[in-house]
Amino acid sequence: MSDDATDVLVVGGGIGGLAAAFALRRARHQVRVLEQAAEFGEVGAGLQLAPNATRVLREWGLLDEVVATGVLPRRLVLRDALTGDELTHMDVRGDFERRYRGPYVVAHRTDLHRILLEACRDSGVLLETNRHVLRVETTGDGVVVHGADGTICRGAVALGVDGLNSTLRRAVVDDEPVNSGYVAYRGTLPLDAAAADVEADAMVIWIGPGRHFVQYALRRGEVLNQVAVFRSPAFARGEPEWGTPDELDAAFADSCDHITKSLVSMWRDRRWPMYDREPIDRMTGGRLILLGDAAHPMLQYLAQGACQAIEDAHVLAAQAARHAAGGGRVDWPAALAATERVRAPRVARVQNAARLWGEIWHVDGVARLIRNELFTTRVPQDYRYLDWLYGV
Ligand SMILES: Cc1cc2nc3c(=O)[nH]c(=O)nc-3n(C[C@H](O)[C@H](O)[C@H](O)COP(=O)(O)OP(=O)(O)OC[C@H]3O[C@@H](n4cnc5c(N)ncnc54)[C@H](O)[C@@H]3O)c2cc1C
Repeated sequence: MSDDATDVLVVGGGIGGLAAAFALRRARHQVRVLEQAAEFGEVGAGLQLAPNATRVLREWGLLDEVVATGVLPRRLVLRDALTGDELTHMDVRGDFERRYRGPYVVAHRTDLHRILLEACRDSGVLLETNRHVLRVETTGDGVVVHGADGTICRGAVALGVDGLNSTLRRAVVDDEPVNSGYVAYRGTLPLDAAAADVEADAMVIWIGPGRHFVQYALRRGEVLNQVAVFRSPAFARGEPEWGTPDELDAAFADSCDHITKSLVSMWRDRRWPMYDREPIDRMTGGRLILLGDAAHPMLQYLAQGACQAIEDAHVLAAQAARHAAGGGRVDWPAALAATERVRAPRVARVQNAARLWGEIWHVDGVARLIRNELFTTRVPQDYRYLDWLYGV
């Protein structure tokens, strides 16, 4: 069976795919999203959105709704996981918002995903579930997307936004996800059920040897989001079963009281082994471009994976507009090549910086003492390491 041609075929309906679909639909392209799952959805945990993403959401007319369902924290605080002492903080209101021309927002993933989904639906994006895509073929002036059920869809261009374990990435590069040996546990609970006193107007990260713990309020301050991340000894020993709840408890056993009390309310039936991939300098193959985690999965230490997917969408839409001839017909190969030139070096830098930031968080011994000394003497208004990330 063959379907009518659409301009843009988006493979994957996560935050990255929906952001790209909406960005291109705003520019009046015919857009169709093919999602493998039976329903569009996201896991119910928190997501930090830095100004490089919130500026784009504002341009798309979606920021107010994201802020209305989320929280605008006052501070980002780093504490030592062993002592609980504050090491440094950054005010993320006032000067920060002016400097980066956008707020720092924390949102429930399901809320952001729903807002993007509704924006796509309302603007006329075709949204299809149960569409598992196997491959994309470039055929002269178009693409053919092959589904696992034998169906094909035709379009002018395909966006591979199918996540960390992307099927479509194989058309661009032959590589595998890199296992960091760390695992994340998440959990949300009503804020008033928290086991320890919570700084409700802050995003707090406790950093320590081989572990860190994150806590911040969501949904107008009603919900508490927690993330506990640690290096698995069982993984290091090469054991197939690793990152278990027993390892979670052992990894945080000598942490400060706040963490050990808070740890009881983590979800223990699910965990997220943490992978990224090596940066690539190509994101395109024929008329296919990879975006979001399919192109640049990263460790979450900079809280930038979804932010970068939103940047991808924004840049692609801008490049499509720049490479449009009369009648709106886009020179897609030129638009994809230009997007790759802009995005590949930037996302590579973010991926590498995320790895480095994680190493700094997780050091032990003398390195930890030196880090703590440097952090405690840092001036909170020192933005020199952030301008490249939030300021573009
Ligand atoms: C613990 C943790 C905390 C994080 N915190 C933050 C944060 O605070 N801020 C931030 O910006 N980022 C954060 N991230 C990263 C962020 O979650 C991801 O970068 C982002 O969700 C990626 O979105 P995506 O749409 O590219 O991929 P995904 O969310 O993986 O979506 C891919 C979609 O494609 C579909 N799909 C897959 N294969 C196919 C196929 N063959 N055919 C059709 N559909 C397919 C999937 O079903 C899925 O819906 C965090 C990540 C983790 C693990």
